[in-house]
Amino acid sequence: MCGVFGVYAPGRDVARLAYFGLFALQHRGQESAGIAVSEDGRVTALRELGLVAQVFDEQNLSGLRGGLAIGHTRYSTTGGNAWSNTQPVVHHGRARTVSLGHNGNLVNADELRASTGKTLQSSSDSEVIAVLVADDQRPLADALAATMERLEGAASVVGLSEGKLFAFRDRYGFRPLVLGRLGDDPVVASETCALDLVGARFERELRPGELLVADEDGVHVRQAVEPAPEGALCIFEFFYLARPDTRLAGVEVHAARVRMGERLAEEAPVEADLVMPIPDSGTPAAVGFSRASGIPFSEGLVKNRYVGRTFIQPEQGMRDQGIRMKFNPLAEVAGKRVVAVDDSIVRGSTTRQIVQMLFDAGATEVHIRISSPPVISPCFYGIDLASEEEMIASHSTVEEVRAAIGATSLAYLSLDGLQAATRRPANALCRACLTREYPTPVPLDGAKLRFEAAL
Ligand code: SF4
Repeated sequence: MCGVFGVYAPGRDVARLAYFGLFALQHRGQESAGIAVSEDGRVTALRELGLVAQVFDEQNLSGLRGGLAIGHTRYSTTGGNAWSNTQPVVHHGRARTVSLGHNGNLVNADELRASTGKTLQSSSDSEVIAVLVADDQRPLADALAATMERLEGAASVVGLSEGKLFAFRDRYGFRPLVLGRLGDDPVVASETCALDLVGARFERELRPGELLVADEDGVHVRQAVEPAPEGALCIFEFFYLARPDTRLAGVEVHAARVRMGERLAEEAPVEADLVMPIPDSGTPAAVGFSRASGIPFSEGLVKNRYVGRTFIQPEQGMRDQGIRMKFNPLAEVAGKRVVAVDDSIVRGSTTRQIVQMLFDAGATEVHIRISSPPVISPCFYGIDLASEEEMIASHSTVEEVRAAIGATSLAYLSLDGLQAATRRPANALCRACLTREYPTPVPLDGAKLRFEAAL
């Protein structure tokens, strides 16, 4: 998971626009943030571990001058959480200097790294993309198209080189990438919510396999790579990752999540006194569950919003610490039969602690309802779910998961129910972590830290 943003707008304060664009994309990655600008072909990048608001201030932003800017918020999926893996990466190659930010994960990163013949600075798969473009002697758009041909897996990329902004999406379209306009100036971003924040109007999504280059002559778009016959927009974006106010493939994420909750109430009804979300991503589905079941909605748990998402924090020790810092139950759950709605269970450790917290607060029954099917298989396309051994549902029945988390009852939304709520056809979405049916070949070793030793 990462957020990317780019703007080509000579005459505007592009670094500030990138800052606010990243601010809207903070939920996609909280490990590091960075902005690169280009002025007269010269690239300046500032990237650091931390949240957007921690990395940038008035002083360092005012030093980032140029006519175009890109930005990145990172959550690591290949390569650890180290400064060398922050983005945008910058590579000075044989043909040009390239800076880029990447959302997604390549499944052929090993092979591509080896093909560069270089010792790279980072252990991420994203630097490889920059190297391939920077070393290619053909004109920039051709070098980009040739590089896109070689990428397998997920890549929504924004970059700058030779005073031009570029953006592209892999042939499957795993990760979203949208084009907007600020006046006539092009803006690209992972999600529509970033366009909204900077005041850009949505124009359209980039199509799978499409390449965009913006320069002084305008925006040039070409279908650089044949799109896959079936698209693979990540279904996890719909129920977990994307911000609720974002529109994915024309569908508002919040509304889709409400429909998931409504369908869940039909599929797995329960007698209870209140419906509460496990905040924040469980909230719209809890609203839907409450609406469809007629059981009153209430908060139940208060979340400290200034602590990062526990799911996003990469180490188990941090996750355990995170849950205690993050939630506090309200007195009104005491004596009640509670339905707690969440978007997913991956390892089960967070849900178990929340169930215990609700019983400790006096709930008489805790019914867990999940607005997605069981997560049973890893993601190789940019969401660091966990390994299959760590996923509780990959080796347990629903009843075993219920017992492990200590809930009174447990039910998941069916795959058909989830699919219907997205209003997208099944062949337009990747659902591999729920079905084990991957749209591409997957690497034997997809371990996140596999390139660390090569540095
Ligand atoms: S495997 Fe799962 S998380 Fe990964 S892209 Fe596919 S649907 Fe999304």
